[in-house]
Amino acid sequence: MKIARATITLIDLPLLEPFVVSYASYASMPSVILTLETDDGLVGYGESVPDGHITGETPTGVVEALKTELLPAVLGMDPQDITAIHQRLNAALKGCGAAKAAIDIACWDLAGKAAGRPIYSLLGGRRPEQPTIARVMSILAPEVLAEQAIHAKHEGYRHLKMKLGGGDGQDIERVRAVRAAIGNDLGIRVDANQGWADPAMARTMIRALEPFDVDWVEQPILADDVDGFRLVRQDTGMRLMADEAVVDAQDLAHFVRDRSVDMVNLKLMKSGGITPCHRLATQAELGGLKVQIGSMLETSIASSAGFHLALSHPNIVSTELSGPLRFAKEPGNLKYVIPDVHITEKPGLGVDVDLEVLAELTISECEVSA
Ligand SMILES: [Mg+2]
Repeated sequence: MKIARATITLIDLPLLEPFVVSYASYASMPSVILTLETDDGLVGYGESVPDGHITGETPTGVVEALKTELLPAVLGMDPQDITAIHQRLNAALKGCGAAKAAIDIACWDLAGKAAGRPIYSLLGGRRPEQPTIARVMSILAPEVLAEQAIHAKHEGYRHLKMKLGGGDGQDIERVRAVRAAIGNDLGIRVDANQGWADPAMARTMIRALEPFDVDWVEQPILADDVDGFRLVRQDTGMRLMADEAVVDAQDLAHFVRDRSVDMVNLKLMKSGGITPCHRLATQAELGGLKVQIGSMLETSIASSAGFHLALSHPNIVSTELSGPLRFAKEPGNLKYVIPDVHITEKPGLGVDVDLEVLAELTISECEVSA
């Protein structure tokens, strides 16, 4: 089996409501869908949702990287030779995790379809329970968040993930309002997305959060301030998580050495797909850190890839891949029954792609062949 042809499709996904985090606000979400066809007629799907704030990649940059460097490096290879494929990709371009993730995911989809097995099965099998998701809440006014939290509780969510770091002095009020609205029934996690400028501010904020029984605090300070995490760690017993600060094995090694966080949030788009994230999850396990698999806002294609990885690795304790729930329309059909996600026994990703919907959302398309 060889990769014979690739189609790169840049799409724009309409969001049900704008998504607001500390560093950006999104009205819609661009995504790059990769279709790989093999010489024996199998079709595999991958996806790239780059976040320029984290990996420096852009949607059109991903298209260009795939077209001119990454796909030419792997066309003609067997998609099941995933280790060799990553060696070629890494030799062709440094970094570019989101672009590489598209190829990685499509190769795993093909490998699963060729074997007639779901991806988790190729990764060593799955845990029996279905993965769950938290309700991710944008940076909004405290009273709006309180209403959304009550609604989320009625919808069946068991955890809320609150985006903080709004820079308007309202972060503590936001958490207070939500906790008051839902009582102690739901867990609350907060993600400052680097928005608390420095360790001093982060320490103040975390102290103020202590009465509200927060599960963990994600990426309180700037991604580059690795040593700053040690300062934050010193005076809080609250669980800390690094996200933007962990892209590759060297980043993770700092946190393993310092034990300045308890958990790391790995994303296929930061690190290049299922394969590198599986390795990072093992590296974290050996270093005593727990792992969450997070996501950018991705369609069923990349979200499903994240769930297959999470189900197969014993050190992955949390999943936050809720992209498909936020889109008004998307080409895949991953099934969410809140708060669970139904990962089936279908081969590969287990996602059916609706080509008509894909065509409706398409901005541009190009083909690359051997
Ligand atoms: Mg985060």
